[in-house]
Amino acid sequence: MNQPQGPQTDGVLPGAMTIDVEDYFHVHAFAGVINRADWPTYESRVEANTDRLLALFDEGGAKGTFFTLGCVAAQFPDLVRRITGAGHELASHGWDHHAVFNQDRPTFFEDVRKARLTLEDIGGVDVKGYRAASFSIDPRSPWAYEALAEAGYAYSSSSHPIAHDLYGDPDAPRHPFREPTADMLEIPVTTLLWRGKRYPLGGGGFFRMFPVPLFEMNARRMRAEGVPPNFYLHPWEIDPGQPRINDAPLKSRLRHTIGLSRCESKLRKLVARGRWTRMDEAYHGWLDDRSAGTDAGADRLTA
Ligand SMILES: [Zn+2]
Repeated sequence: MNQPQGPQTDGVLPGAMTIDVEDYFHVHAFAGVINRADWPTYESRVEANTDRLLALFDEGGAKGTFFTLGCVAAQFPDLVRRITGAGHELASHGWDHHAVFNQDRPTFFEDVRKARLTLEDIGGVDVKGYRAASFSIDPRSPWAYEALAEAGYAYSSSSHPIAHDLYGDPDAPRHPFREPTADMLEIPVTTLLWRGKRYPLGGGGFFRMFPVPLFEMNARRMRAEGVPPNFYLHPWEIDPGQPRINDAPLKSRLRHTIGLSRCESKLRKLVARGRWTRMDEAYHGWLDDRSAGTDAGADRLTA
């Protein structure tokens, strides 16, 4: 395994920098007003936005994992090759952003298998990681990890262990764990544990809303727990010029657009001051040791 890249902050556990490569019109918040059949009529901005993220990471000496939609990879194969060419990890965000809990097992298996094979074919690398659309692996889809293992994946980062109206499983472990029925490592998105309660502080809209030092504080807390922080963002979150979806409910519009204008500069600060790398490097101890994470039941009960 290669040593993680990044600024010289020896002795600090590097965090995982992850990007879910999708366009602004793919998000579930707009699913009620944007038909999938109409996706081709929307201006695509994912390629330009992802290129800006690649430049930002290059400038800051960071590596990351790009969970890429299969349909985006098929449309922009050169972008996929720029991601792998820059030394980032290529991983899968499924084919076209269906929530796992809205699929049955055979449909899900075909979706994640097709996405992995397409990404590997275009990127010329092994694809081991998967992130579900909207962190949608939860108790409604108990077969998901077995299906991912069958489809050739080694790990998933699809659990957001908080209470949220759209996603999340507040009873799921906060630390990486292995599902006993499937040979699959789950690496949850980072949460804040404060006075016995969990709060979302992994990235995305929360990163756009809250100051960078709060994320840096929580990254230190995670490291003190012995686990690298797992940070996520989307290319559209650094794009204040994206078209507005005016037909969407007010709550969805606010959630989608809050803090867009400052997000890129905040990310630049986070990258410059921290140490960030790919999932498969940040968590290689858990991936290489098949017994690591099998005792997460205690975490499930206490955290
Ligand atoms: Zn997504």
